[in-house]
Amino acid sequence: MSENKVIDGKDFAERLRGSIATLAAEFEAKAGRKAGLAVVLVGEDPASQVYVSSKGKQTVACGMASFEYKLPADADEATLLGMIEQLNADPAVDGILVQLPLPRHLDEQKVIATISPDKDVDGFHVTNAGRLAVGQAGYVPCTPLGCLMLLKDRLGDLSGMNAVVIGRSNIVGKPMAQLLLAESCTVTVAHSRTKDLPEVVRRADIVVAAVGRPEMVKADWIKPGATVIDVGINRLPPAEGKTKGRIVGDVDYQGAVQVAGAITPVPGGVGPMTIAVLLRNALVAAYDHIGAPLAA
Ligand code: NDP
Repeated sequence: MSENKVIDGKDFAERLRGSIATLAAEFEAKAGRKAGLAVVLVGEDPASQVYVSSKGKQTVACGMASFEYKLPADADEATLLGMIEQLNADPAVDGILVQLPLPRHLDEQKVIATISPDKDVDGFHVTNAGRLAVGQAGYVPCTPLGCLMLLKDRLGDLSGMNAVVIGRSNIVGKPMAQLLLAESCTVTVAHSRTKDLPEVVRRADIVVAAVGRPEMVKADWIKPGATVIDVGINRLPPAEGKTKGRIVGDVDYQGAVQVAGAITPVPGGVGPMTIAVLLRNALVAAYDHIGAPLAA
């Protein structure tokens, strides 16, 4: 098996952060301040704490300012919305991200709707979802945008290719489908009600799996030579004597890598791209805020 089949998201993300650091330094020279990203964490979910700390470290490493706000798990809606309003009005803050999932008593849609669309670097606000749908410039959710970058880097022009996106969530599947459509792919969006999923996937030149089911996509679903992007992050139960289980994607990697033309591993594929793209979105927002938009 050729090593060249493996799409190395870790390496791509590192290069992306390098170019972000250069642009962030240029921004600081131009604006007289650093580009700023604010992250709000409600509660103490361990995975969310790891993400937030990693985002903060990478933001600073790229030469941007990181503002972290923590609220207790029982924080009320008015407190959280008030904090977002303050960040909306703060000229040092270019991007705002509220770490999801939120504790159950908080209304996620209401929270996202309160973030100013021009600081919504996660791209979850309906204004940005609408901009993506009608082909206007806006903020695109980081994970699917990272997937598109990996695909274009590997395949170049995607026009005319058959793409199958498995999953239709607002944060991955739907925006992924919109991005591929904008690249002139013929896009099929599959989900839990799709009939004969293996047969649907076999038609694909590009498969994006964003399901959340460990190793669901099998090698014999993949058309020989297809490019496979595995978004899934699933932790398997621990093996005997171990405390933590292995992380696997939504694709049976060991089998699929034999058939695919190119494939992202898990970990080390899509995962590392998400934060790098978030920083890129925050920098794009910063340049927009000083009236000097970055070229696309
Ligand atoms: P959601 O649970 O929101 O969506 C899952 C989608 O998969 C739904 O559309 C669902 O269909 C579909 N689905 C579920 N079961 C099946 C099935 N048997 N056959 C076909 N489709 C099915 O998940 P997310 O989109 O948020 O995340 C998907 C995966 O990506 C998760 O593993 C998550 O951890 C990972 N992820 C990784 C990120 C990264 O940085 N790499 C970032 C975000 C997510 P239906 O709509 O019909 O219910």
